[in-house]
Amino acid sequence: YQRIVLASRPQGNVRADNFRLETLPLPEIKDGEVLVRNHFLSLDPYMRGRMEETKSYAAPQPLNETMIGGTVGEIIASKNPRFAVGDKVLGMLGWTEVAVSDGALLRRLDAASPIPLSAYLGAVGMPGLTAWYGLTQIMQPKAGETVVVSAASGAVGSVVGQLAKQMGCRVVGIAGGAEKCAYVVNELGFDACVDYKAGKLDADLAAATPDGIDAVFENVGGDVFDASLARMNPFGRIAMCGMISGYNGEPIAIKNARAFLTMRLTMRGFIVSEHMDLWPQGLKELGTLVATGKLKFRESIAEGIAQAPDAFIGLLKGQNFGKQLVKLS
Ligand code: NDP
Repeated sequence: YQRIVLASRPQGNVRADNFRLETLPLPEIKDGEVLVRNHFLSLDPYMRGRMEETKSYAAPQPLNETMIGGTVGEIIASKNPRFAVGDKVLGMLGWTEVAVSDGALLRRLDAASPIPLSAYLGAVGMPGLTAWYGLTQIMQPKAGETVVVSAASGAVGSVVGQLAKQMGCRVVGIAGGAEKCAYVVNELGFDACVDYKAGKLDADLAAATPDGIDAVFENVGGDVFDASLARMNPFGRIAMCGMISGYNGEPIAIKNARAFLTMRLTMRGFIVSEHMDLWPQGLKELGTLVATGKLKFRESIAEGIAQAPDAFIGLLKGQNFGKQLVKLS
């Protein structure tokens, strides 16, 4: 089977040679263990942070070991009474076609549910929960308020906007390119979407938010975040979820920081994996919405484990359109 390990730590932009594809013999399992064949591997922006050795909320990815990552797959051999061959499981088995697990961190998925397996890595998984947490626990918008979300067409942003619409808010997305913006408005039902690549972000966001902005879900940072700050209403709330425009090491400045004072704003950063107590509630709500067709999502799927590095590099450049996955044969 094949897997991808971290070969070296990136200096600036991630390069394909920061990774190494390895071919290994199929492992044997011991008592209590299972062998999993992964069907989908999740690629997520947080992986960029793990490639660094700088101080962060989690330990760095070790060199020469399987890249970290969420997976959905199937049990192909079991010496653990909790799992049978054929069971579908969600795990954190990393960038590998096959993995041994003791089962402790595997969650069995209901194969009879209308929720597709890949969705457990997106709208009904960590990214969906991230959206749900920031919106319901930090932004807490009321009906009629204006909510802005950046990276609006992505795995997290698409869920933020749809949930905020269901709460009765005016929802404005910010995304890169006319195609992503058209999708956000026409398919996801946002009230408006501003294309930050069109060259007049501040004016376009002002036009899309005639009553100002009451709550922001920030995924990008930099100029995109500054544009929202300039439109904030008094006592606005900001869920600081991500700053993807700086993940390759570019420093992120906040030019309109004065708005925190003049508009009496509150901003809170959060890491979704630190709020496990709320996952069952959030996942139940998201699962029901996806199963009943009330929460839409889109996926960018790379084929085969060898494509994972390029797909990940593309994700960090906005080349994905929806949740980035790798489908394994
Ligand atoms: P997405 O599916 O949104 O993909 C990333 C998107 O970021 C790209 O498609 C791109 O969309 C956008 N982007 C905007 N500016 C830039 C830039 N300068 N360089 C590269 N991309 C840019 O990813 P996710 O939904 O998985 O993640 C969205 C954000 O949420 C990230 O910041 C991530 O780190 C954060 N996150 C935080 C968590 C937490 O616990 N705090 C948990 C999970 C995610 P476009 O073309 O529109 O610019």
